[in-house]
Amino acid sequence: MAIDLSPEPAVADLAERTARFVREVVLPVEQRHAAATPSEAVRRELQDAARGAGLFAPHVAPEYGGHGLGMRGRAAVFEEAGYALLGPLALNIAAPDEGNMHMLELIATPAQKERYLRPLAAGEIRSCFAMTEPAPGAGSDPRALATRAERVDGGWRINGRKWFITGADGAGFAICMARTSGAAGDEGGATMFLVDADNPGMKIVRHIETLDETLYGGHAEVLFDNCDVPADAVLGEVDEGFRYAQVRLGPARMTHCMRWLGIANHARDIAVRRAGERELFGSRLGELGMVQQMIADSEIDIAAARGLILQASWELDQGRSGAQSTAIAKTFCAEAIWRVVDRSLQICGSLGVSGDIPLGRFLREVRPFRIYDGPSETHRWAIARRVLRRHTTAAAR
Ligand SMILES: Cc1cc2nc3c(=O)[nH]c(=O)nc-3n(C[C@H](O)[C@H](O)[C@H](O)COP(=O)(O)OP(=O)(O)OC[C@H]3O[C@@H](n4cnc5c(N)ncnc54)[C@H](O)[C@@H]3O)c2cc1C
Repeated sequence: MAIDLSPEPAVADLAERTARFVREVVLPVEQRHAAATPSEAVRRELQDAARGAGLFAPHVAPEYGGHGLGMRGRAAVFEEAGYALLGPLALNIAAPDEGNMHMLELIATPAQKERYLRPLAAGEIRSCFAMTEPAPGAGSDPRALATRAERVDGGWRINGRKWFITGADGAGFAICMARTSGAAGDEGGATMFLVDADNPGMKIVRHIETLDETLYGGHAEVLFDNCDVPADAVLGEVDEGFRYAQVRLGPARMTHCMRWLGIANHARDIAVRRAGERELFGSRLGELGMVQQMIADSEIDIAAARGLILQASWELDQGRSGAQSTAIAKTFCAEAIWRVVDRSLQICGSLGVSGDIPLGRFLREVRPFRIYDGPSETHRWAIARRVLRRHTTAAAR
């Protein structure tokens, strides 16, 4: 049976134009802003350029100004956008906005779509997703969710503390996960709320200093302090928040893999260029066996990562849960991308560690990916449990 993994012509064209745009427009801007998080003016400049090039928000439906790409189409385009750290921001496909748009498209009411999705898709506002809490609250185990929402006259009152909330500072709204029934440790009982950032009950407590710098708006600790929201702030159904989180997290895991695979490609290209130029021990670096092995291992990691992303994306496009395939792909990609960037830096020697080329920065940016969207250990644990369950069920037949 022939298997054709190539994207359809319109998607291939979009991916090719994205690749050109990223190299010709985004990378020069990125190089000018080497060490810092870009300003709001830079975000707008890049997004205007992407809009002008017809590349903006490719994942959202045409009625919201996008190209309506499915997950496999996203795989091709997002990998090209990810070649530059600021590429995803330029196309309005950076985390957490991209994942939030995906979820709003699927579960928001028509009124919520007009109020939140439309300006988000247009790049007029940003957003954040507030789930993780300081210990002993929700982290790898979301059931530990401690933030609570109680019914009050006309709506809900949210109380709790969140941290590592990417993009919270400057966001127009937050999607906040709070417990509406049960107690910490229970399987269900969570609800998602749309909270406007000017709500006096939602407070940015501090910016958390982290290894990475590029995810726009940084990572904040956020306090929901008697935060009153109206009844129509509920996103989806009450007590169904954990189920909706999976609607967001499976695809969001994959789009993170797609974007960071772009950085792995970029790191590999820098290393291969260096291996072709640098002379030592009477030959080019690239003629030495151990360097060839590193280059080959990186190529294998990149190809395998792409294959796993496509497999999981295909399942998601079929409407399947993709729980196992996204966990496998996320775990492999987060580790493989790290290995590729690390090997590339090694091939470049001291130049790799220097600020003259971006490999040190790439390394800092990709390291947290082994923790967010589920740490590798949480995914391995879940993968193994599913395999064991499958065997137990098969043995019982
Ligand atoms: C840069 C960055 C951005 C983030 N952005 C957001 C955001 O926008 N919104 C949001 O809600 N959250 C965000 N997070 C939080 C992220 O989702 C959590 O860090 C993640 O879910 C892990 O939770 P935790 O940090 O509390 O680690 P813990 O739950 O304390 O886990 C600690 C460690 O325990 C180990 N572990 C976990 N499960 C198992 C297991 N089953 N078996 C064995 N060992 C295990 C792993 O090594 C793990 O790293 C972000 C995190 C980072 C680093």
